[in-house]
Order: sequence, then structure tokens, then C-alpha cells
Amino acid sequence: MEKAFYKSKDFNIESFKIETFQTISDLSLKFAINSIAMTKHKAGFVNIIGNPNVGKSTLMNAFVGERLSIITSKAQTTRHRILGIVNGDDFQVLLSDTPGIIKPAYQLQESMMDFVKSAFEDADILLYLVELGEKELKDEAFFNKITNAKIPVLLLINKIDKGNEELLSEALKLWQEKVPNAEIFAISALQNFGVSEVFNRIIELLPESPPFYPKDQLTDKPERFFVNEAIREKILMHYKKEIPYSVEIDTEEFFEDENIIRIRSVIMVERETQKGIIIGHKGSALKRVGVEARKDLEKFFGKQIHLELYVKVNKDWRSNERQLRRFGYNN
Ligand code: GDP
Ligand code: MG
Repeated sequence: MEKAFYKSKDFNIESFKIETFQTISDLSLKFAINSIAMTKHKAGFVNIIGNPNVGKSTLMNAFVGERLSIITSKAQTTRHRILGIVNGDDFQVLLSDTPGIIKPAYQLQESMMDFVKSAFEDADILLYLVELGEKELKDEAFFNKITNAKIPVLLLINKIDKGNEELLSEALKLWQEKVPNAEIFAISALQNFGVSEVFNRIIELLPESPPFYPKDQLTDKPERFFVNEAIREKILMHYKKEIPYSVEIDTEEFFEDENIIRIRSVIMVERETQKGIIIGHKGSALKRVGVEARKDLEKFFGKQIHLELYVKVNKDWRSNERQLRRFGYNN
């Protein structure tokens, strides 16, 4: 029986070390398949929508920041942009915000509609965030989508710390009429009031599903982990004999900007001769690894990638326990 590695605190890379995979998305599929044995687990996509400035990002931070076992990931899959992953023993919530929404007015509608379209296709639960005092239903088509949604809609009236009871009861009445299919919550994302109630309701509503992502408990691990695996895959494909097994990848830098992710990874080898083989004639072999890995990673993260690779001789990495632990080969 394969170990349910996603559940263990010491995330165990070894369990699929010898498998090769065609693409990164196959890898995430593997995680899903490996987890099917677990029945009661819940997981799903939760999309936060709403006008600019109503507090979507604040809410996101409140969810992600307040939970016990948390990772945040900015990974992008073809399905979704995931900005926050909140993990528990038996749940995984994949939260996504709507960055495209904060755009000039003429673009707003368009990107909002695009997002709403995908949100309705992909989401398991919709969080529609409004702020206290907000009344206008600016976009009718958008509203029709929400009121006719086939998935649970939680309408969150945010910033209640700014108002009084009278304002709040007016708002409750207004939104009950406008969006009768929604469950309504009054919250203050900023002061963390009502947020855990919303979160608990999300957990209740989540469909039964294995986790979509490994439950790595180290905050910055997932992105780097995928980077390492993408590079290692190319090395397995292009080098012979002992080379792939003498190699370890360490992504030293993973820096995400708005438009580009800058990555620096080191390929560790055990001997000077291996270094030469990895690099190849005038660097051609290493270049091929870099170009191919970069292409895969651009697909995976949905962003332009700047990938810097270099090779280092590190005699000890396979025998030194501390090093091994660092690379995740501990049991
Ligand atoms: P977004 O554009 O929807 O992502 O909104 P942000 O999360 O960036 O928040 C916009 C502004 O509203 C920021 O100045 C937040 O501090 C503020 N804000 C968010 N939530 C609350 C809240 O519950 N109460 C109050 N008073 N301000 C809030
Ligand atoms: Mg925001």
C-alpha cells in the first residue's frame, strides 16, 4: 500500500521519486489519485466576487491567516488561479480572489463577466461580498448569474464595523430581496468578526473530494517543489545512466512579481565530471533543460518565468543526513 504522503507532516518526496511524469498537471492528477482512498475528505473551489474595495483581499487574508494548518500558494492550474489554500486534516479550501476586477471602468465589466463566467463554471461555492451601504445593482447580467446560480451562494455584508444596527437591518432586508438564493452573513473582515462562521459554513458546504494539492505544511514549499520536480523531470529525460540519480535540485529563489516569476535553482551533483556532463558542450545541455523546464513552469503557473540554473558539486548530498532531510528524503 502506498503511504498517504499528503497527510504526513514530513512530506515524503521519495514515494514518487522514481516515477516519471509527462507534465506537471499529471503530477497533480497523481496527488488526486493517490488520495482517493480517503473518503470523508472535503475539498473545493471557493470564489470571492464583488465590487472593488469591498474587502475581498482582506477577507482572503483573514481566511488564510487565521487557520491552523495553512499553506498559501500562488500556483495556477488550467482550472483556476489559486491565491489561497487553507488546509485542515479533512478539508482543503481553494480560495480565489478576483484580481481582474480592479480595472478601469470600461474594462471592469468585461473582466468581471469573464471571471463570473469561469467562476460559475468552476466554483463549488460562491462568496459574494458587498459592503454595508452598497445598494446599486450595476450590472444586471451579473446579478442574474448570481441569483440563478446552481451552486451555494454566501452573500457577505462586509464592513459592519462602520455602521450601526439600523443600517445593518436595512442591508439584510435589501440583500434578502435582491439575492433570495443566498445565505446572508454580516461580517467585518478587517476586525475578523463573523469570519469563522462563514468559514465553518464553507466547510459544511464543500463537496466530498480528495485534496487537489499536496498538504505540504511548509509555507513556501509547494511552488519550489514543483519547480524542482520540473527540472528533475528534464534531467531524467535527457541524461543517461547514473546522472539523474546523482542529481538533486534546490530552488534557492522563487520571487513572484505581478507579471513574472524569477526563479533560481541549483542542480547539485556529486562529482566534477558530472557537472561537466550536465552543462554539456558550451552549456548546450543545461540550456535545453532550462528552456524545457521553463516552458512547463510557465504553463503551470500561468505566468512568464525567468529561470536561472546553475550546477554545483556537493559531494555530500546523498550521504549527509542533514542535506537529505533538507531535500525531503526523510521518513
Ligand atoms: P478589495 O478591493 O475588494 O480586495 O478590498 P480590500 O480588501 O483591498 O479592502 C479595501 C479597503 O477596505 C481597505 O482599506 C480595507 O482595509 C478596507 N476594509 C476591508 N474590510 C473592512 C472591514 O471589515 N471594515 C472596514 N472598516 N474596512 C474594511
Ligand atoms: Mg483586492
